[in-house]
Amino acid sequence: MIIPISSAALRENTPSEALFDTHSEVSLDFKHVQKQLSNGYKKPFLLIDSNIIRLKTRRFKATMPRVHPHYAVKANPDRRVLQTLIEEEASFEIASINELDLLLELGIPASEVFYSNPIKSRAYLEYAVSKGVEWYVLDSVEELRKIVSVKVDAKMYLRIDTPNIGSDWPLAGKFGAHLADINEIITEAAALNADLAGVTFHVGSQCRNPQNWRVGIERAIDIFSEMLTAGLNPRLLNIGGGFPVRYIKPIPAIEIIANVINKAIAKLPDHIRIIAEPGRYLVSDSAYFVCRVVGTATRNGKRWMYWDAGMFGGVIEMTEGLHYEILTDRTGNNISWTIAGPTCDSVDTLMQDALLPHNIQEGDFIYIPNAGAYTTAYACNFNGFPLPDVFVI
Ligand SMILES: *Cc1c(COP(=O)(O)O)cnc(C)c1O
Repeated sequence: MIIPISSAALRENTPSEALFDTHSEVSLDFKHVQKQLSNGYKKPFLLIDSNIIRLKTRRFKATMPRVHPHYAVKANPDRRVLQTLIEEEASFEIASINELDLLLELGIPASEVFYSNPIKSRAYLEYAVSKGVEWYVLDSVEELRKIVSVKVDAKMYLRIDTPNIGSDWPLAGKFGAHLADINEIITEAAALNADLAGVTFHVGSQCRNPQNWRVGIERAIDIFSEMLTAGLNPRLLNIGGGFPVRYIKPIPAIEIIANVINKAIAKLPDHIRIIAEPGRYLVSDSAYFVCRVVGTATRNGKRWMYWDAGMFGGVIEMTEGLHYEILTDRTGNNISWTIAGPTCDSVDTLMQDALLPHNIQEGDFIYIPNAGAYTTAYACNFNGFPLPDVFVI
């Protein structure tokens, strides 16, 4: 059902419930999980439906025809995922030279790759330059000088701080030049005759407030004027990532966010290239994460369950407050469980007070939908537990 949005609601600075859940979202069909399990179970796995990645990429492009997606490789760097995105004519954004190598092996031209990590080691910069990467982000005078010292004609874009209100992972603080820092960076770029050519921001991951993009774009437009005044040639707007997917909380559909973004960019002249860096949005809904209960216990009256995958095995975002939908084959009454991973590190405790059937026991499967982003990408072998498998259909 489509709920009409009043322009008053769009002007609000806090998310209005009227913005939420107005378009249906697609998830991997559970029958594929059952089919995979009919071959047996060895260890936790992620099952990806590449068709959903295709659909999400097409939907993203259709809602924002002027905004070209550069997928954030860190969300899920699986080659088959990247290949699917290439076939859908998406481009890419990287943080390291390993991510760059992965893309070069797949035939992506380096000149189309955006190096969007605001602090890069000199060695990584030299490597990226030698491979032909042209676009580099910065958010400080020091990084500006470092990039120019390695590549005098680098095309650079300035990462600015924007509000992260309504994001599940506010990123504010670690990166982004503040208002007070921007002038010095622009002045130094002009003095060095450097090609500071654009502005970027990141509204925070899983951002449920479309107004954050509007504020970021408006700030970028102001900074373009400052750049022009300083003699620079601004021609790139990079609106970053943060586009949300459905877990448990309702989200504004991409069409609603696009509506806000399209209005905000309408004033920009045609020579301004506009890109975005969606990560989670393009891949999350495509996959189920499947793991298993290896044991249960009662401790001081509280029920605990231990999975064979925890924060080191693929579900680290649960420890950061992400509430996935958690499905099991049990239908008993729900009770409050504490969920933990299999390692002996006490930080490997995933969730307190998860309401799940009382009769869950050793050997039960746990099914987590919409888990294609930031799961296997984070997994490591800590304590001798294996990396999850990744299957792609
Ligand atoms: C992680 C990241 C993204 C992707 O963020 P999502 O929230 O997954 O969309 C985009 N750009 C940069 C610079 C990032 O670090």
